[in-house]
Amino acid sequence: MSHPRDAQNAPQPPYPFEIRSSGIQGMGAFATRAIPIGERLIEYAGERLTPAQAEERYPDVAGERHHTFLFAIDDDVVVDASVNGNEARFLNHSCAPNCDVVIDQKRLWIEAIHDIEPGEELVYDYAFVLEERHTPAAKKRYPCHCGAITCRGTMLAKKR
Ligand SMILES: [Zn+2]
Repeated sequence: MSHPRDAQNAPQPPYPFEIRSSGIQGMGAFATRAIPIGERLIEYAGERLTPAQAEERYPDVAGERHHTFLFAIDDDVVVDASVNGNEARFLNHSCAPNCDVVIDQKRLWIEAIHDIEPGEELVYDYAFVLEERHTPAAKKRYPCHCGAITCRGTMLAKKR
């Protein structure tokens, strides 16, 4: 059912990065060649759920860490990268990102927002938003160790 424009825009493997252990956390994605700003790298793939289905699968309990492979496209669709996900789920969070997730035609894509050198880790700002207030305790449940000078110490988004 893909539109011709989708096929043209959709990056295909081999992707310009490799998955290996990261100094930020666990595994990460590292550029295997120079990547120019604006390049679309990979789809953030996963099972598509309604918000109700996502809530049923991962109940959002205040005071507990919620599931980090969920990505809301809009009010109707949530992508769960832990089911049918791809290498995009290995990208780590950073407060000084070189990539971002963009929504195009109801799909999620990782795109470079800076020129990236070979060997650089690909990172984007998760900017999680919780239902509850972003208190210091909540921020601590999502600590950030990205090492950036501008690190805000948490993967939670600034709320207003
Ligand atoms: Zn940080």
